[in-house]
Amino acid sequence: MQLKTTPEDEAFRAAARQWLLANVPAARAPHEGRAASDFARAWLARCRQGGWAGIGWPKEFGGQGLPPQRILIWYEEYVRARAPSALDCTFVGLNHAGPTLIACGTDEQKAFHLPRILSGEALWCQGFSEPGSGSDLASLKTTGTVDGDHLVVNGQKIWSSYSDVADFQELLIRTEPGSKRHKGLSWVICDMRTPGITVRPIVNMAGVSHFAEVFYDDVRIPLSNVVGALNDGWRVAMTTLGFERKTAAMGLQFELSVKVEDLIALAGPQPGTALAERLADLRAEAAALRAMTYRMVLREPATQSDGSMMRLHFAELAQRIYRTAMDIIGPEALVDNDWSHDYLEAYSETIAGGTAEIQRNIIAERVLGLPRE
Ligand SMILES: Cc1cc2nc3c(=O)[nH]c(=O)nc-3n(C[C@H](O)[C@H](O)[C@H](O)COP(=O)(O)OP(=O)(O)OC[C@H]3O[C@@H](n4cnc5c(N)ncnc54)[C@H](O)[C@@H]3O)c2cc1C
Repeated sequence: MQLKTTPEDEAFRAAARQWLLANVPAARAPHEGRAASDFARAWLARCRQGGWAGIGWPKEFGGQGLPPQRILIWYEEYVRARAPSALDCTFVGLNHAGPTLIACGTDEQKAFHLPRILSGEALWCQGFSEPGSGSDLASLKTTGTVDGDHLVVNGQKIWSSYSDVADFQELLIRTEPGSKRHKGLSWVICDMRTPGITVRPIVNMAGVSHFAEVFYDDVRIPLSNVVGALNDGWRVAMTTLGFERKTAAMGLQFELSVKVEDLIALAGPQPGTALAERLADLRAEAAALRAMTYRMVLREPATQSDGSMMRLHFAELAQRIYRTAMDIIGPEALVDNDWSHDYLEAYSETIAGGTAEIQRNIIAERVLGLPRE
């Protein structure tokens, strides 16, 4: 599938390219901690100044209200210019929390939070997964008990990306005592500086820490921070995850094409070798991912199975690309460098945002019509 563009689209592309050329920082983003969050905030603030932050958000909330076709063009230019990865500590605010507040929040919640997200002043994290409740999110156990005009939260979340630097968390908790599964949950805005919150960073196999366990010990959250209605959190959470399925990851998907071209340059001329064939396959697979992204973003309405097919292909392709890099580099890969870092990080791709097995279940049941597990 090709992206068919108009002369106006191409004028937009030229403006994006020119701005990125003049503004993409020369320095690479630090991998973790305060240095990484300062870098991401500064980059978002610069994009905001240039009018390029939240380009898909409606104009009334500070965005540009651009249609999907233009957002695709923006991300094509974004990765071409080697702009900082879109998957940084501003990701949840821009792609999950902000759009969820726009769809389900009160006027007060929108007025307070949306400008802070867009400017980079407020960073957000996601607190959905718990030990034992990842793939099976509806089994979550962290509770919120109504006490006057507050919820008192007790329990634990895990794998909450950037929760060590975030200002707010989109927190999914069980607020109806004795409720089961999808019923009785609420999606609440949790100020990460509230007393009773403990964040314990987890170091991953790449040796960096960008997610954490979060413990809640009698954490008092105003009822006015509930998004949607009390006990209607599953519907709001599905709204949040719907954004993740559709537009949130397109920059990351396009980035893989750039990585494949870097890999081909790294390998050097390989006429007639098995490696040349492998690289050609990777290039074709990256092109297929790009085509799937176009189809997904431009097709209305996108289904969950569209998202699962794309997510699965993305995750497994990323792992194949970095595995090939290790084979090209050989023993030198044992020395810490960007390729070996990306290789180790890529293991998480078939876990984060729904594991490969869960994506395969969805495809099996909803696309292939196989019996439910
Ligand atoms: C890098 C990274 C960042 C993350 N960031 C966040 C975040 O910011 N916020 C957040 O809330 N969560 C986050 N997560 C958590 C992520 O959503 C979960 O790890 C994921 O949903 C899997 O859940 P789990 O870890 O509990 O594994 P489990 O659900 O316990 O799965 C364990 C294994 O069993 C398999 N399995 C489970 N159920 C089935 C089934 N029905 N059929 C077949 N196989 C099955 C899985 O595929 C997996 O191999 C992040 C994870 C990673 C890796």
